[in-house]
Amino acid sequence: MREHFAYVQGMWTRLEERAGIAVVNPTDERVIGVAAAGSANDVTRAVRAASRAFREWAGLPVAERAEFLRAIADGLQDRIDEIAALITAEVGTPLAISQRIQAGLPIASFRAAADLVGEVEWSAELGNSLVLKEPLGVVGAITPWNYPLHQVAAKVSAALAAGCTVVVKPSELAPFSALLLAEVADEVGLPPGVLNVVPGDGITGEALVAHELVDVVSFTGSPATGRRIGELAARAPKPVLLELGGKSASVLLDGLSEETEQAALADAVKSCLLNSGQTCTALTRLVVPRDRLDAALSTVGDLMDQYPAGDPTEPTTKLGPLVSQRQYDSVIAHIESAIDSGAKLAHGGPVRYPELPRGYFVRPTVLVAGSSADPIAREEVFGPVLTVLAHDGEDDAVRIANDSEYGLSGAVWSEDRDRAIAVARRIRAGQIDICGGKFNPLAPFGGVKRSGFGRELGSYGIEEFLHTKSLQC
Ligand code: NAD
Repeated sequence: MREHFAYVQGMWTRLEERAGIAVVNPTDERVIGVAAAGSANDVTRAVRAASRAFREWAGLPVAERAEFLRAIADGLQDRIDEIAALITAEVGTPLAISQRIQAGLPIASFRAAADLVGEVEWSAELGNSLVLKEPLGVVGAITPWNYPLHQVAAKVSAALAAGCTVVVKPSELAPFSALLLAEVADEVGLPPGVLNVVPGDGITGEALVAHELVDVVSFTGSPATGRRIGELAARAPKPVLLELGGKSASVLLDGLSEETEQAALADAVKSCLLNSGQTCTALTRLVVPRDRLDAALSTVGDLMDQYPAGDPTEPTTKLGPLVSQRQYDSVIAHIESAIDSGAKLAHGGPVRYPELPRGYFVRPTVLVAGSSADPIAREEVFGPVLTVLAHDGEDDAVRIANDSEYGLSGAVWSEDRDRAIAVARRIRAGQIDICGGKFNPLAPFGGVKRSGFGRELGSYGIEEFLHTKSLQC
């Protein structure tokens, strides 16, 4: 583990002395490493390196940049087991899911960026103008802990494909996979300065956002931090991409067959419990026809019982711990306050598993909200907590789904696919799954309202790091 080191200008450099931050395994509460906290000077060194490397990287033929991205994907693929185990230790994700999502998605992102960058329309004629696409410059990328390498890879792969250079500031709770990515980039001979990683906290992050040589900021994290980053970036001003939180609704329309209803509920539970509910797109509001409420609660409870909690390295475990004591306390507080303010507890609750005395485990919990105005129907809990709401028909279901400050994702279920699409068009969110539609890593990903703005993944993700220039001839 490269503790206290940053990757800057193609070299591992010791950070200036600032107290490190303990990285704790959330399953056994043991310290597994120390995340160094980069200072403003450390950030400056990394940003200068990225700035120096920019012209040459932007000037490389696109096919050569794509080759580097493919080599990074191959390098990550070679270390997929190590990545999965590392993120399971940092975050608590069950190992099989770590393998598929935490380690698998980043590899897919680098491959997709390599394939798609060839399709960018770099120049077009418009009357007497030549319209050019050019990379924005130096990217400051700040990422959270829940999918620590995926979020880094989504930003880095797209930015490098576009011809930008990057300084990454990973989360202090799960910093090590970003350093592993730097190792891979180093091994494949990525030119020095093109990718730099400076571990740290909010102080490091603010220094990065505010640095005059950072041309664009790409942030994933909480709405509160997003707001702060937006304020700092506005001072320059410089563009920001914000991927923030969510409180996404799975809407079941009336008239579902037993089989479709079962599939819809299983999908909602799976989404809500993925990564112990620490997923920004989690479907944490279940909106069901009023006459199906009781049946839905009973089925959801049975489904949640099929998610045994425990050591995430055990193959039988389907629910790991939350990432930290702080996250545990916050989720328990949400559950207790919802119960105190009248929400009905239908499953789980704020009670520890007696067989799991250590680790930040929270039981899958179902709360029935009386109205979409209830705090538990509005606040992002970021834990394995499902809020169920009853609707009185299609318009009411749309009203409930839209009665949220967030607009990240959603799901709509109907026996009639066209009806589901028509309802999905009325819901304000960045991505909506229709009747069980699967996650598409090439589809644009991002939110509206308080969930942020800008899009990641696939060709839309690359476009975010380009600007448009016109030459009048
Ligand atoms: P967070 O906002 O606390 O931290 C995210 C990152 O920002 C970390 O690297 C942190 O060090 C850094 N940071 C903190 N304060 C900063 C500041 N003042 N200036 C600059 N950087 C600062 O979020 P978190 O707790 O790591 O992640 C959980 C949140 O992220 C949830 O709200 C979740 O919904 C959201 N999230 C969103 C998406 C998405 O794509 N929309 C994906 C994952 C997580």
